Amino acid sequence: MSLRYRCPNCKTNKTRFNLLEQVVHPVKKDPQSGDIIQEYQSEQLEPFHLAYTGPSLRVQCAACGLIEAEKTFAAYGELN
Ligand SMILES: [Zn+2]
Repeated sequence: MSLRYRCPNCKTNKTRFNLLEQVVHPVKKDPQSGDIIQEYQSEQLEPFHLAYTGPSLRVQCAACGLIEAEKTFAAYGELN
């Protein structure tokens, strides 16, 4: 079953949303120039580089602009 959303900020919007798919690009940057000096595949990160653990999908309320993880909108959507 699909998840019903409701915005926890403006509380009225249940219909209009922007879905933000998180596409992770692990990189190493030069601290002086800011240039990207290495790009990784996520399964071959260096030992001190944490893999992304945030949500794969975030949601923006298209009424008030709030951006949160999908589970936040879905949890509010299931109330009442
Ligand atoms: Zn809202």
